[in-house]
Amino acid sequence: MTSIDLRSDTVTRPDERMRTAMATAEVGDDVLDGDPTMRRLEDRAAELLGMPAALWVPTGCMGNTIALMLHLKRGDSFLAPEDAHVLNHELGTAAWLAGGMPQALPCDVGPGRFSPDAVRAATDNTGPYHSMRTSLLCLENTHNSAGGTVLPPEEHGRLVAVARDQRLAVHLDGARLWNAAVAAGVSPAELTTGVDTVQSCLSKGLGAPMGSVVAGTEEFVGEARRIRKMLGGGVRQGGVVAAAGLVALERIEDLAVDHDNARALADGLAELGWRVREPQTNILLAELPGLTQAEALERLTALGVLAGPMAGQVRFVTHRDVSKSDIDEVLNRMRRSEWAGSSSTTARS
Ligand SMILES: *Cc1c(COP(=O)(O)O)cnc(C)c1O
Repeated sequence: MTSIDLRSDTVTRPDERMRTAMATAEVGDDVLDGDPTMRRLEDRAAELLGMPAALWVPTGCMGNTIALMLHLKRGDSFLAPEDAHVLNHELGTAAWLAGGMPQALPCDVGPGRFSPDAVRAATDNTGPYHSMRTSLLCLENTHNSAGGTVLPPEEHGRLVAVARDQRLAVHLDGARLWNAAVAAGVSPAELTTGVDTVQSCLSKGLGAPMGSVVAGTEEFVGEARRIRKMLGGGVRQGGVVAAAGLVALERIEDLAVDHDNARALADGLAELGWRVREPQTNILLAELPGLTQAEALERLTALGVLAGPMAGQVRFVTHRDVSKSDIDEVLNRMRRSEWAGSSSTTARS
């Protein structure tokens, strides 16, 4: 029985076309005096994101860390939605490397979404000199641990506007901004309006083996290049991986297939009695009443269906290496199993 891997969209492997592009990439020394394929990737990424300039970084975490290091001073605090990646999944680098005190914003609008009032309530920079200064708002689109939820363009605009009123800089963790854009039916650039900096991953649903971009002004990217070097992220013949990134950026529209597959999986699981949260993109959070998260994951693994834990639930992530027939196969394996195929009640929320 072959396993069907729905743990994450990071498990996607470079296909033949991407490997050929990597093997034949024109390269230089990107630390010494530049790599032509890196330049092309960074220009293309900046254009797609609607930002003046972009910098390739090995990982999304490094992209976020670099941005936060440039936005924050010691004694500052920054705001991010509760369970944000920068708060929970980056080993505290926002605090120990960037020097910012993290402050979680309650998601008072819905999963992964908070109101302008929440930003206002959390930003009081009128205290005496020894109070912390809140200087940055971090957005996350899509919001990973809330279940790949989309911050639509109007709502994004309102949050950027309140941040400006409060004199906060804005960083967007857009690891899956491509998914948000496809789901909202807008260009990625429409979801970066007004932000100072944005980080987006090439190594998730778009299928590159590694790499992210962090984008902002020319001046920001100049400084970001220095910080990347400090963190050990300057690479030499980076064109080999940038070539994969260029192929990845041609595949943004393909993400719609992953979103359809996530919905098909949600429908099938609901028929099997799972409580599912309607997916907006390629991430599906679900639970089977009566089973703990660990029990559900263990039983899925026994069926050759790999999923992951997230926010107390089972997280299924669809991606370009699983097809609609793989999703059908997942549901068939569950229907045939005793523990997941017996219930006919449907529960949706
Ligand atoms: C994956 C992810 C990152 C970090 O990317 P890595 O390349 O794994 O370091 C940052 N933010 C969010 C929301 C993510 O999902």
